Amino acid sequence: MFEKSTWIKLPRNVLVGHGVLAELGAAVESLHLQGDPLVVTSPTPNRLAGDAVRSQFGDPTTVTVEEASFASIERVTEIARAEDVGYLIALGGGKPIDIAKMAADEIGRGFVSVPTAASHDGIVSGRSSVPEGDSRHSIAADPPLAVVADTEIIAQAPWELTTAGCADIISNYTAVQDWRLANRLKNVEYSEYAGALSEMTAEMLVDNAASIKPGLEESAWIVVKALVSSGVAMSIAGSSRPASGAEHLFSHQLDRIAPNKALHGHQVGVGTILTEYLHSGNDGQWRAIREALERIDAPTTAAELGVTDDEVIEALTTAHEIRDRYTILGNGVKLEAAYETATATGVIERQ
Ligand SMILES: [Zn+2]
Repeated sequence: MFEKSTWIKLPRNVLVGHGVLAELGAAVESLHLQGDPLVVTSPTPNRLAGDAVRSQFGDPTTVTVEEASFASIERVTEIARAEDVGYLIALGGGKPIDIAKMAADEIGRGFVSVPTAASHDGIVSGRSSVPEGDSRHSIAADPPLAVVADTEIIAQAPWELTTAGCADIISNYTAVQDWRLANRLKNVEYSEYAGALSEMTAEMLVDNAASIKPGLEESAWIVVKALVSSGVAMSIAGSSRPASGAEHLFSHQLDRIAPNKALHGHQVGVGTILTEYLHSGNDGQWRAIREALERIDAPTTAAELGVTDDEVIEALTTAHEIRDRYTILGNGVKLEAAYETATATGVIERQ
C-alpha cells in the first residue's frame, strides 16, 4: 500500500533584483495578510532601508535588535503580541531574519524576509540558528511568506558577507554527500530532487565564480538566486540536509570553541575542504573546492579564519558530538586523522 506523503513549505513571492524594495508593499499585498506589520531590524539596515520599508506600510512599529539571542526573540515576541501585529517584516542580515523567523513561529504569524546582505541561506530557508550559552540551536520554523532581495542594497553590503554566502552555497557539495551516506548507512530519507537541486546550485555558483566581484551588483544577483535555490532544496527535503552536513557541524563546533572569530559561511567553506577530503581522500574534489573558495576571496585556512590550528583540530575531532545527524564524521575523527586531513589540505601547516 502506498503511504508516502509530503508537505512542502515554500515562500510564495520571491522578488530578486535591482530596486525591488519599492515593490515590497505590492508583494505583501498579494499575500492577503490581515493586520499591520512589525518591522524587525538592526541599526545599520534600519539606517539604509528602514524608511523605504516603513513608507510602504503607513509607518508601522519598528523593533531594533542588536544581537541574535533568545532574549531578543522574547522581546520581539512580546512587542508583536502587545501590538497584535498581523505579520513581521525582517529587514537586515542574518540576525534580524533569524529572530523574526523564530518570533513569527512563536506567535503563529508569518514573516517576510528583506535581506540587506547575502551572507547565508537562512534568508530564504525555514531554519534558524541562535546561540544559547556556548552552543547554537538550530531550529526548524516556517520559511518566509515572501523574500524581497534588492540587489542594489545587497551589493553595498561588506564584501565578506557576500563571499560568506558563496561559501555557504559551496558547502552543498559535501552536505549532499553526507546526506547520501546517511541514506545508505542509516536509512535517512533522501530526496533525489532536493539533492540534485542543491548540487546544481553549488555548481552554477562555482561556474559563475569569475563574475563574483566586489561592488558588482551582478554578484549579488548570482549569490541571492543561489541562496533562494538552496532554500527551495531545503523546503523540498523538509530538512536542512541538502545544505548542511559535516562541514556545518564543524562550523557550529568552531562557534563554541572560538566564538565570533569568523563568519558562518567562511567557517563552513573551510569545513567543506576538510570534509570533502574525508569523503574522497587526496584524489577527491577538495582542491577544486579550495580553488573555488580562493577565487571568490573566501578563507581556506585556519589563519585566514582567525582561529588557531589547535582550534581547527579540536573542532574536527569533536564535531560529531553536536547533534544526531549522521555524516562522514561517523562516531568521530581520530586526532591523527584530523591532523592529516587538515595538513594535507593546507588548512593548517605541518609542524
Ligand atoms: Zn549554512
